[in-house]
Amino acid sequence: YRRMLIRHKDDPAISRDGVKVRLLANIELSEDSKEAKRVGAEGVGLYRTEFLFMNRKTLPDENEQFEAYSSVVSAVNGPITIRTLDLGADKQVDSANRPGPKPSNPALGLRAIRLCLKDLDLFRTQIRALLRASALGQVQIMLPMISSTAEFRQARRLIEDERVQLHREGVAMGARVPVGAMIEVPAAALAAPMLARHAQFFSIGTNDLIQYTLAIDRGDDEINYLYDPLHPAVLRLIRMTIEAGDQAGIPVAMCGEMAGDPQYARLLLGLGLTEFSMHPSSVLEVKRIILDADIAALRLAVDHALNTTDIHELQDRLHQIGIG
Ligand code: PEP
Ligand code: MG
Repeated sequence: YRRMLIRHKDDPAISRDGVKVRLLANIELSEDSKEAKRVGAEGVGLYRTEFLFMNRKTLPDENEQFEAYSSVVSAVNGPITIRTLDLGADKQVDSANRPGPKPSNPALGLRAIRLCLKDLDLFRTQIRALLRASALGQVQIMLPMISSTAEFRQARRLIEDERVQLHREGVAMGARVPVGAMIEVPAAALAAPMLARHAQFFSIGTNDLIQYTLAIDRGDDEINYLYDPLHPAVLRLIRMTIEAGDQAGIPVAMCGEMAGDPQYARLLLGLGLTEFSMHPSSVLEVKRIILDADIAALRLAVDHALNTTDIHELQDRLHQIGIG
């Protein structure tokens, strides 16, 4: 079966009715880019930078980060979306451990962009390294755990400041480095039309979006039976985000696990998603589904499915299109 899939490695992901879909890879290490290439991913939709900070006592400085990002950027064909540090909660590292009492609710605490906006040296150092690496490829900067327009704008202003500063220093950078927001907090999905006026792209992080929407700790085995990507609240937030992006004319991707799970691919196509980023091992299987899909028909069917207030009816209608 995998041999059969690999035959489509270099085919573009175009649906039966002619819609072009972008299949991108999620990577964590520079070596992962080889696997992404091997399966024919068109670029990287999520490069998690936390790994550079793990298993060590001190923070990597600007040059070390620059070297690491450069080697990944040069190894990737196509666009590469690099996420700024997403530390805290489920992603703890020794080098960024803070003194003081442990937060009582880390997932709702000082993590990701919040931590970066508090520790400006940490953030600025990473931004400078990323902007320098942008000279070597099509870099996009993605901000995790955005919960308001003000927060996004503050971060974007800091990035702009560093760009101006680097320019003054005569440092080479990419001409255009889009800055986008991860949509993984329900507030960001609900406020997506406002955010879309400032962000240059969205990427939906379903792992956290589901956790926060359904109020279930993503790492807690006792309640993981409640973790449901098909919950109508989750589906509505995804739909709102895609619609807001479409209306504002900015690209919307999805980089949470849901994007790489073949059982949801037809649903996401029906919701209008055209950029999927996933673990490289899922790319070929999802591509197979896209090649077979009639997206216009799926859009009608998913619209119809979501257009009911009867939960059983919703599930039945999704079933009819092979979902759930
Ligand atoms: C997500 O939350 O869906 C996501 C892609 O990020 P992470 O799993 O790294 O939190
Ligand atoms: Mg996340």
